[in-house]
Amino acid sequence: MNLAKFPRIRLGHLPTPLEPLPRLSEALGGPEIWIKRDDCTGLSTGGNKTRKLEFLMAEAQKQGADIVLTQGATQSNHCRQTAAAAARLGMDCHLLLEDRTGYDHENYRYNGNVLLDVLHGATVEHRGPGLDMNAELDVVADRFRAECRNAYAIPGGGSNPTGALGYVNCALELLGQLVDLGLNVDHIVHATGSAGTQAGLVTGLCAMNAGIPVLGIGVRAPKEKQEENVFALAARTAEKLGCPGVVRREDVVANCDYVGPGYGMPAESTLEAIDLFARYEAILLDPVYSGKGGAGLIDLIRKGHFSKGERVVFLHTGGAIALTGYTHEFDVAAKA
Ligand SMILES: *Cc1c(COP(=O)(O)O)cnc(C)c1O
Repeated sequence: MNLAKFPRIRLGHLPTPLEPLPRLSEALGGPEIWIKRDDCTGLSTGGNKTRKLEFLMAEAQKQGADIVLTQGATQSNHCRQTAAAAARLGMDCHLLLEDRTGYDHENYRYNGNVLLDVLHGATVEHRGPGLDMNAELDVVADRFRAECRNAYAIPGGGSNPTGALGYVNCALELLGQLVDLGLNVDHIVHATGSAGTQAGLVTGLCAMNAGIPVLGIGVRAPKEKQEENVFALAARTAEKLGCPGVVRREDVVANCDYVGPGYGMPAESTLEAIDLFARYEAILLDPVYSGKGGAGLIDLIRKGHFSKGERVVFLHTGGAIALTGYTHEFDVAAKA
């Protein structure tokens, strides 16, 4: 496996820190919890899309693109990081935002990621819920091409084999840190959505024969569908890397019991996870992804799925800027 042969532009502050969470570990009374701080990638408040964009934006530049397009939900972290990367590289950025939740709170529509999209100079258009958003994106990209623009379209979440290379890179980075620290890890847990993060991570770990199982906590699709999506993308990523077949179907495991009312809508357990991480460790989770990943981690510890004496790494995928788009969930007026 050779990552160096793929074009890459440095956008993130890498390596991200790998740190213990002693107070949360003690409070839960289970395994030793560590955190991989991919919320600290540095690009416009950071997050997991930065690593994918290092490879995607390099491909866009190589193709001579003058505008990048992508799509996501209103409070998409991926759209915000794409807008930031485009600004950094002097490209235009056009975003297609789907109203996936139906929320009409002022902060949800204009604060958080949406504010940053605008600050980075992206142009925005909106879609109602339930459309095939990647198909919508293709239509809009063709519209720009008809205007003689060299448009590079990035699928939702940056989740294709090129984007997933960013998480192959993360797997290598993490394994290096574990060697440096002399640390053994029994599990990696993180939030999984458009599948690129888990697909890249699992591919990198399998290619390196690391033997560390990854558990993706789903935020939208049911388990079967999520695992199929991750596995299909992992297979394509492995092929791109020149190690086809390195990921087996059983290497891809998702738990989708923590989605709650739906994508972008926090459950009680999401809010509790945000609260516990903030109070015990001063770590900010988000209401759409990492809060649900954290909820899964906490509940599975309470149920004894991870035992005392084991060591778990929670991959923090970012997203906390979206908290300011969800003030309606936190009863702020009663407490401040
Ligand atoms: C996009 C995102 C995820 C999910 O990653 P995928 O690669 O889409 O599965 C998790 N956490 C945050 C904060 C995200 O923005």
